[in-house]
Amino acid sequence: PPLVSVDAVQKTYPGRSGGIQAVASASLTVRKGEFVSLLGPSGCGKSTLLMMVAGLEPVTAGSIALNGTAVTGPRKDIGIIFQDATLLPWKTALENVLFPVRILKLPVEQYRDRAHELLRMVGLAGFETKKPSELSGGMRQRVAICRALVHDPDILLMDEPFSALDAITRDQMNVALSEILETYHKTVIFVTHSIREAAYLSDRVLVMGGRPSTIILDMPMPFPRP
Ligand code: ADP
Ligand code: ADP
Repeated sequence: PPLVSVDAVQKTYPGRSGGIQAVASASLTVRKGEFVSLLGPSGCGKSTLLMMVAGLEPVTAGSIALNGTAVTGPRKDIGIIFQDATLLPWKTALENVLFPVRILKLPVEQYRDRAHELLRMVGLAGFETKKPSELSGGMRQRVAICRALVHDPDILLMDEPFSALDAITRDQMNVALSEILETYHKTVIFVTHSIREAAYLSDRVLVMGGRPSTIILDMPMPFPRP
């Protein structure tokens, strides 16, 4: 069975005259180890779909299963990276990386080496004790990547993770991300506006669109990653 299974999922946010229909009906599956990009115009429901897969936003109808069990809330097998790093400003880089471990009530000491290793992999060795205000935007987003991976989730969800960065930092982030994925073999759903980025990183590209919005294209890439 696929690792991620989204079946006829709908989302209507409450509002006047029947609410805002963010997703009309979306179905997709993602196999273990696959890197899938999700493209589509602004407002077509990409973030909403990702939040539902993460268990952070309830579905209006349909169902989502991960690893064979229904998604009903936040889970240990999910890591998520948002557009803004949203680090806790009063905590150090290392403490920010370890934050999901605390939230999930896992033993922090057992994850400390892993947190250091992840920070090293994204080029932040030596910055462990810095506060977010002492780091650049690109560095903060690299801390957010480590935070999403620290608890060793099976599935990594990313919502336009690099869109706030300049072009050079963005390219460097894509390289760092590729290296991390080669080491840790995660299953990824990646929301982006960049067709170039999607083509560079993905095994398969999904496009959302239409009104009301659905998945209108599901296209394997001709040269999947090794
Ligand atoms: P995106 O970059 O994905 O297009 P938006 O700028 O549309 O993001 O939304 C940013 C945040 O605001 C998201 O957390 C989203 O859930 C929330 N949001 C977007 N539209 C509305 C709305 N109409 N009412 C309330 N919250 C919204
Ligand atoms: P995308 O990520 O593709 O830009 P979103 O999922 O952010 O799209 O938004 C899809 C639609 O749902 C938009 O019309 C947006 O304004 C609306 N929306 C998003 N979040 C909320 C929210 N929390 N409350 C109400 N409407 C929202």
